[in-house]
Amino acid sequence: MSIPRFWRNIQSRYNLIGTRCRRCNETYFPLRNFCPNCRRMSKLEKVSLSGKGEIVTYTVIHSASEEFDRQTPYIMAIVKLDEGPSLTAQIVDCNISEVKIGTKVKSVFRKIQEDGEAGLIHYGYKFTPVRRLD
Ligand SMILES: [Zn+2]
Repeated sequence: MSIPRFWRNIQSRYNLIGTRCRRCNETYFPLRNFCPNCRRMSKLEKVSLSGKGEIVTYTVIHSASEEFDRQTPYIMAIVKLDEGPSLTAQIVDCNISEVKIGTKVKSVFRKIQEDGEAGLIHYGYKFTPVRRLD
């Protein structure tokens, strides 16, 4: 069964597919074409990242450009994934008081932005705190 390219792209972009170097075992996100440690000796493979990690640092955004202003205040954080790479993402579905440095988070698939007239909706990953019931 062939999967339309559209959905393949969605998968690698939104399912947190990273690159792992089998030579030095370093994991990268987003995808890389070579490993900066190993360069020409790189042995890269794609890996699905767990989407689990913790907050390294964060900031509360109180005013934003027009398309994001409806969401303020919101939290942007640098999340260090369990596999090693760090990324910047919005933290959602929580109170600001729940977010601290070291808070465990997991990725969720959410609407990022809606282009008013074109009606295009962009989806992507965001993160939410891991609660005891999860
Ligand atoms: Zn390497």
